[in-house]
Amino acid sequence: MSAVQDSLRIAQEGGLFDVTIVNEELDTAVAQVISLLLPSLRQKRRVVFILGGPGSGKGTQCARLVQRFGYTHLSAGDLLRGEQQRDSPQALLIKNYIKEGKIVPVEITCGLLLKAMTELEETQAERVFLVDGFPRTFENWEGWQRVVGADVALAFVLLLECGEDVMRERLLARGRTSGRADDNQEAIQKRLRVLRHQTIPLVR
Ligand code: AMP
Repeated sequence: MSAVQDSLRIAQEGGLFDVTIVNEELDTAVAQVISLLLPSLRQKRRVVFILGGPGSGKGTQCARLVQRFGYTHLSAGDLLRGEQQRDSPQALLIKNYIKEGKIVPVEITCGLLLKAMTELEETQAERVFLVDGFPRTFENWEGWQRVVGADVALAFVLLLECGEDVMRERLLARGRTSGRADDNQEAIQKRLRVLRHQTIPLVR
């Protein structure tokens, strides 16, 4: 018996391999390998949640991580701000939530994150996403589990810690040029309250 026949016999006796592909005709064998690998490659979407207070440097650090490691940065806040510029039914709702420093309903935020991931995957091979500013509340996290579930693997959570005085100072300085509706004293207070009472307990 040849070595190949021997291997096949062992494989067929079971237990050792999940799948056996016989390379009799190269193209067929390659197609079988690809169709076997594709589902696991597709499942490889992974996220890192980047959390921290407003002005703690999430956007800045993400830009550096992207530069250094080539991941893809998705900011929940940027996606929401982008959506509010559109002529969509949810634009006005998002606008009001952001202006008030309040948390936008989770279905909207999750929907935008998933849409962005799917669109980006059409043009790039990178499947590690740095998701900044999400989840900020228990409701966010429950919504993510409900909507996204096990389709996306959570690699880890990176929490940026920064003193409130420093964050407030940075945001007010940014507010002079950012044109953002929420970089003002009143909205900053509310955003810091979300951090203290919702995001930090969630991270813990
Ligand atoms: P950021 O750009 O991260 O400072 O977020 C700005 C604003 O966008 C927040 O104050 C919220 O109104 C809204 N926002 C950002 N992330 C979320 C989220 N995960 N869930 C709901 N609303 C969010």
